[in-house]
Amino acid sequence: MNKVPNLPFVHLMPFVDIEEKREVLLVTSTPAWNAVKDSLRGLNIAATIEVIEATIENWDSLLTRHDSPTEVIYAVGGGLTADAAKYFASKLNLPLVVLPTALSVDAFITAASGIRKDGCVYYIETKVPERLILDLETVAKAPAFIRAAGITDVMSIATGAWDWKFAHEQGKNPQGMEFIPWVYDNAQSILNSVFDCAEAAGRGDSDGLKTLYDCLAMEVQLCNQIGHSRPEEGSEHYFAYAVENEMGHGLPHGDLVGPAILLIAKLQGQDTSRLEKALKACNVPLNNIPQEMIERTLKILPDYSRKHNLSFGIAHTL
Ligand SMILES: [Zn+2]
Repeated sequence: MNKVPNLPFVHLMPFVDIEEKREVLLVTSTPAWNAVKDSLRGLNIAATIEVIEATIENWDSLLTRHDSPTEVIYAVGGGLTADAAKYFASKLNLPLVVLPTALSVDAFITAASGIRKDGCVYYIETKVPERLILDLETVAKAPAFIRAAGITDVMSIATGAWDWKFAHEQGKNPQGMEFIPWVYDNAQSILNSVFDCAEAAGRGDSDGLKTLYDCLAMEVQLCNQIGHSRPEEGSEHYFAYAVENEMGHGLPHGDLVGPAILLIAKLQGQDTSRLEKALKACNVPLNNIPQEMIERTLKILPDYSRKHNLSFGIAHTL
């Protein structure tokens, strides 16, 4: 590891107060844009790219078709939009401002973009957005199932950090991913804080959403400091990647990772009542993966995890 990414500079302000004179390349999705476009009349939009896929081929083809001169990229929407915008901003060498329409994932503030390749999710280094504009009133108005679904990327500490420690006890952490007790303890502390804000965040309360954002930010920066995501990414994410591949794309990240946390935590022998309560408080859908799909995915998960070189966790041993 020779780089430690930072977090975006955050502005807590209503979208209606944004005034952008530079020529904007807008990266968005139709549902997100329709929900907030009336508040974003202050953007000087020169071109728009709509993103519906997370593959390099798709993103490159969108870039090829884009040829208007622009000075800054604005990403308006959820995780997919942010991931694609980070890719475009790094390719075009443009500054990036991210406007989440829901706190649905941690992708708004990470330095990498998740892409689908060979039936799995890989993270490629792109860039951290320079700025993040957080309009908590707008986030509060997002559909309930997605509004605070980013809690899953903090709650995955419960199962991801467990895996990291498990791998340590089995002597399976490679060089550069050694178990670090203080990092583990910090992750647990972030996890405990997110339980406390789950109910308020889920109902769209501003303070609750701000705390959820703080927990996401601390989780991301903790991973930035050590150069990998083992404190928050483990078998629950592997299951989500595998089941997404089995089902075909379409379900939001939280719909996959939420139930996966419960499933994996049970297999790890953890008490899941606190986890389930927090996920329900944040309106994360827990029943959108059909039972037979869950069973099929659990069967293939050990081979899948090995095949895609995923860091050792309970998934490898099922
Ligand atoms: Zn995630």
